Amino acid sequence: MLKSPARHAWMVESSDIAFAFADDYFSSRDRFLRAADEAGATVTTLACPAVGPGDALLYMDAAWTGDPDAESLMIVTSGVHGIEGFAGTAIQIDTLGRRPPPPGVAILSIHAVNPYGMAWTCLENETGVDLNRNFVDYDAPLPQNDLYDELDEVFMCPDLAGPRRDAADARRAAYIAEHGLERYLRAAADGQRHRPGRFNFAGDAPAWSNLCLNNLVGGLARRARRIGWVDVHTGLGDRGAGVMLVIEADEAAARAAQAMWGDLIRIPSEDFPFSPKGALVAAAQAMTPWAEVVAGALEFGTEPVERVAQSMIDRFRLTAFSSVDAPEAAQAMAEIRACLAPSDEAWRRDVLGRGREIVDATLASLARRPAIA
Ligand SMILES: [Zn+2]
Repeated sequence: MLKSPARHAWMVESSDIAFAFADDYFSSRDRFLRAADEAGATVTTLACPAVGPGDALLYMDAAWTGDPDAESLMIVTSGVHGIEGFAGTAIQIDTLGRRPPPPGVAILSIHAVNPYGMAWTCLENETGVDLNRNFVDYDAPLPQNDLYDELDEVFMCPDLAGPRRDAADARRAAYIAEHGLERYLRAAADGQRHRPGRFNFAGDAPAWSNLCLNNLVGGLARRARRIGWVDVHTGLGDRGAGVMLVIEADEAAARAAQAMWGDLIRIPSEDFPFSPKGALVAAAQAMTPWAEVVAGALEFGTEPVERVAQSMIDRFRLTAFSSVDAPEAAQAMAEIRACLAPSDEAWRRDVLGRGREIVDATLASLARRPAIA
């Protein structure tokens, strides 16, 4: 469903993989801060209003490397979808360790945009919101996803096993057989704004992470005239393949993305079957209206899309009806990791390889074409 580009050409060492990938939020943050320190970065830290396991404090951290007055800026964000953040962090750590940005270009690496989701191994934030559907214009009527209601009972089945779960699975299979996978994915993944507390809720106000990101980027990127923004995600596409999803882009924005990332870009509806409203990358230009912004979601495939969607629903069930410590939770927790944060070296090698390719293309493009004054 998401056409894979040619494989990246990088030879990535096992030691690079071991260095860049962590398995939990806290060690991921430690490594990120250490890499930032070693790269001589200036770090800004924002405290999350919610806590992680063991009441541990959580933070969003930003590391700036390169000229503080640079007019060209690459932003790399990780962990907008919580648990998906290990891939993005690895690319950030790898980038910090490779070399300083070219002259005239700075790099802003923002670690764990949704630290709550990353710490709790889920996608949602501390108020149960899918952050990557939360970046909409709250002065305008909120986008609606009417399809959601057709499957609410399936998504909200409280059991991970047993007759009610079997019935929910049967309904889901019948729905896909009747209406197709595309409609199912739109119902499940486009975000809904009329049923707080239920699956894939997009929020009815800007979330903490949304406000923080606006303040952070609004302050740190105020001198930038040209921004290339890479927001890293996992779970869509062929295993290990990384492509740039360019979401809600008009023709000029799509052309600019094409110039920066070439045949690695993919456009919603043309290349994949849903078109979510409220994605971070779609709001990037409005966040920094003084700059020319090219933004894309770097998405790494893991498992088949139906399996990934099911792992998200099952993980949500634990939060809504059970607990991550419940005996039945272990399998669902292992499954969400397998679908969004794989630990095998081959997948991780592909993430770093493609990550280097995208980072270098972004930096080269920013260095090549200075902003028009
Ligand atoms: Zn994501």
